Amino acid sequence: MTYVSTRGAWHDAPQPFRAILLEGLAPDGGLAVPAAYSRLSPTDLADLRPLSYPDLAQAILLRFATDIVPDDLHAIVRRTYTRDVFGSEEITPLRTLEPGLHLLALSNGPTLAFKDIALQLLGNLFEFVLRNEQRTLNILGATSGDTGSSAEYAMRGKERIAVFMLSPRGRMSAFQQAQMYALDDPNIHNIAIDGTFDDCQDLVKAIAGDPEFKRAHRLGAVNSINWARIAAQVVYYFKGYFAATTRDSERVSFAVPSGNFGNVLAGHVAKAMGLPIAQLIVATNENDVLDEFFHSGRYRPRGAAETHATSSPSMDISRASNFERFIYDMIGRDPAELRRLWRQLAERKEFDISGTAAWERVCESGFVSGRSTHADRIRTIRRIHETCGTLIDPHTADGIHVGCALRLADVPLVCLETALPVKFAATIREAVGFDAPMPPAYANLESKPQHFTPLPADATRVKAFITAHACTAP
Ligand SMILES: *Cc1c(COP(=O)(O)O)cnc(C)c1O
Repeated sequence: MTYVSTRGAWHDAPQPFRAILLEGLAPDGGLAVPAAYSRLSPTDLADLRPLSYPDLAQAILLRFATDIVPDDLHAIVRRTYTRDVFGSEEITPLRTLEPGLHLLALSNGPTLAFKDIALQLLGNLFEFVLRNEQRTLNILGATSGDTGSSAEYAMRGKERIAVFMLSPRGRMSAFQQAQMYALDDPNIHNIAIDGTFDDCQDLVKAIAGDPEFKRAHRLGAVNSINWARIAAQVVYYFKGYFAATTRDSERVSFAVPSGNFGNVLAGHVAKAMGLPIAQLIVATNENDVLDEFFHSGRYRPRGAAETHATSSPSMDISRASNFERFIYDMIGRDPAELRRLWRQLAERKEFDISGTAAWERVCESGFVSGRSTHADRIRTIRRIHETCGTLIDPHTADGIHVGCALRLADVPLVCLETALPVKFAATIREAVGFDAPMPPAYANLESKPQHFTPLPADATRVKAFITAHACTAP
C-alpha cells in the first residue's frame, strides 16, 4: 500500500508507509491517505474472525504497512498488545449491556483512554524505524490532559526518542497532572507553562514553525492526524464486529464519541475495506461542528471563543483535524476539488456541499450524527448504571445517548468506550452520587513525587530547554 496527500502531493510518486509514519502531514499541507483501500473478500473476513487481538492487528496492519517485514511487524505488535499493558488477553473486550447493545472497552491501557491503543503501537513503531534509519526524534506537543499523557506513556524509555510536552500549569485535573508528572523517565520532559492550553499550543506552533530549529533538533509530533494511529484503530472495529456477531453476513452499527474525527474515521476505513458496518453514529457534545455538518452539508469550524468547556472535555474541539480525509473520499478523491474547498474554508471560514454529488455520497456513507448535552450525559451515566450495573465515563455516555437515539432496529449497536469513569470524578459524582472505583495500580498516583520544569510562555526559553535536553544519539 502506498500513500498520497489529500491535496495532490505524491500523486505521481506515492509514498511508502515508513515515509509517512513519523509525520502524516504532507508538504502541501494535506493529509496522507492510502492511494487505494485494501478490500477484504468474504473468505478474508472468515479467516480473521477466530484470530486473537495481536494476530488480528498483525493481519490488518500488514495491509497498511506493506514495507515493514512481516516478522518485524509481528514482533512489534506482539510487544504492544499484551495483557500486561491492556489488562486482558482480549485487549478490547466486548461487554453486553442489554440484548443488542454492547460496549467495546478500549480504555484499559496505561492512561485509561482509547488513545493508548494507537499510541502504544506508535511508540514501538517509531523506535523500530528510528533504530533502522539510525536517527533520532524529539517529539514536541501541547496537552490539556489526555493526549499528552497517552503520548508520554507510549514513548517512555524508548531509544532515540525524547518527548517535550507543554501543559498549562495548574489547569489540569489532579489525576491528569499526577498521571503525567509522575513519570520520571529521563526521555520524558514535562514543561509546565505559566499560561493556558492555547498559550501552550501557540508555543508549539511558534517553535515547530521555525524550520531551522525544527530540522536541527529533528522535531516531530504525535498528533491526531498521524495515519498509523488511524490504522491501529481500524483493528478494534474488526474486533468489535466479530465479538458482537456470529456470522459474517450480519451487520453492526458503531456509536463513536467524536472530537477530531480520528476514531470514527478508522470506522469509515474499516467499512471501506469491506467490514459489514450499517451505521457509523457520530456523537458530539455541545461543540457540535460535526453534527451540524452531517445534518446540513455545511462545515463551519469554530474559533476558540466559540468552543465551550464541557463535561466531556476530550471532545471540546472547534475543528476536526481528520475530517479532511473523509471529505477527500466523499468528493471522489479529487485533490483539485479538495484544494478548492479548503481554500474556501480559509477565505469564508466554511464550506457547504449540500446539493452536490459529494453530499449524496455522505448520505449513503452510513454516517449519521447527533449531539449530547451535559444533562443527556448525566442521565445516561445514571441510566446505564441503574439498568446494566456498569459505570461509564462522560464521553462514552455521549456515544450511548446518541447511539440509542439513532440506531436501527434489529442491528446490533456497539458503543465505543473512550475513557474510564475514574478520570472524570466530578461528573460521575453528580450522576450517581459516589466515586468511580480506582484501578489498584493508580491508587497512590496522586501522592507520588511529580517531575516537571516550570517555564514562562516564552518560545526562546522553551527552545533553550529543548536544545539542552534533546535526544541526539541512542
Ligand atoms: C480523544 C478523545 C475523544 C475524541 O476522539 P477523536 O478521535 O478526536 O474523535 C473522545 N473521548 C475521549 C475520552 C478522548 O480522549
